Amino acid sequence: MELLNRITALLLLGLGLWACDGKTEIPQATTYDFPTPVDTGNKPIEVQEKQLYDLGGGVYLTNDFPAARLNAISRVNDTLLAANIVSENYPINNSPWYAFKAWASDDQEVYIKLNYTRAKHRYPPKLSADGKTWREIDAERVTVEEDGANATIKLSLSSDTLWVAAQEIYDTKRVWTWAEDYANHPYVSLSSIGKSGAGRDLLFLDINNGQSGDKDVIVILSRQHPPEVTGFFAMQAFVERMMESAQLEAFLKKYRVVIYPLLNPDGVDMGHWRHNSNGVDLNRDWAYYRQPETRAVADHIVRMQHESGGNVLLGLDFHSTYNDVFYTQDKAIQQTPTTPWFREQWFQALEDRLPGYKVNEKPKGLATPVTKGWFYAQFGAEGMTYEIGDRTPRDTIDLIGKITSEEMIRILLENR
Ligand SMILES: [Zn+2]
Repeated sequence: MELLNRITALLLLGLGLWACDGKTEIPQATTYDFPTPVDTGNKPIEVQEKQLYDLGGGVYLTNDFPAARLNAISRVNDTLLAANIVSENYPINNSPWYAFKAWASDDQEVYIKLNYTRAKHRYPPKLSADGKTWREIDAERVTVEEDGANATIKLSLSSDTLWVAAQEIYDTKRVWTWAEDYANHPYVSLSSIGKSGAGRDLLFLDINNGQSGDKDVIVILSRQHPPEVTGFFAMQAFVERMMESAQLEAFLKKYRVVIYPLLNPDGVDMGHWRHNSNGVDLNRDWAYYRQPETRAVADHIVRMQHESGGNVLLGLDFHSTYNDVFYTQDKAIQQTPTTPWFREQWFQALEDRLPGYKVNEKPKGLATPVTKGWFYAQFGAEGMTYEIGDRTPRDTIDLIGKITSEEMIRILLENR
């Protein structure tokens, strides 16, 4: 209760701390003591070495591109290679995000054993000829050990490059290219709001019709966790549908949408399973903002809210896990949300429009400092972790993203 009282008091007091630079006051995100604190101080990481491996027999592999991991590979016998897949540090959740490119001087079948360090096989390999269009490998080409630890995959190699990855590769450059497609839209401005720990730009898309005043803010976040591309694809579908909506003009008269599509660019391009370049899970750092990415984004959201003159109503943070899930705030804790009517209407609309789809909502209390709780603590807003399953089909992801986008616009226009 003490925490709730403190948060309520902070909400009543206004919107956080104000830093003074001597001329103008710049609002900053407030710090919080969540019930289950997490040490988000910097941790050592292991950086993977990028190299081309000549494995004999005319077989070559490389990890020399951004994203995912191949920490070492060697030949065991005529047909078998053994790869080590190691995360940036430990402990870490089980997201072994491997990737490599392979080819051979003449056509041949090879087996590659994926040896995970302190992790179990999770992602069936996806294959691609160009690194952009992917398909999942045939199931009979994957053998997982009985204890689920390691897996052996069978590949047909040729002189053409074959991309193999735990999850599709969508690196920082590609995210920027996607975002830049919107840069000429009259309601969109694209910028970098700061730098990651390793100096990469933090991408921001501001969807605003230029009018200011009493405008409420919707916040979209993605890719705190590098391998979680299915959630990112849902975010893309969500944004794409919003931008082509016939209601966009009307919507932007009342709302501003602020989008941070890539919170962890270092983790993405360094092939991290979960953490940033300082070895820290960004989605546990929304209390004291010890990491540059969370500090920059949290402060920027607070500034956008201040500039817009309204409230932050909704914060959607796109992720991936084993199945589709919406993690929401437990209503016993969320006593004064700014939009108490939103959640039920939104989930109902998704079920109504997607036959056979059952929304998997998991309300949770404030525990660790994740964005879901932060949106409530900072703004009294509805915060959700919008999780898409690792293997949810792409057309279903698109539909979920588009329907939730259309229904958000409809419900917010009808209710305010
Ligand atoms: Zn995640």
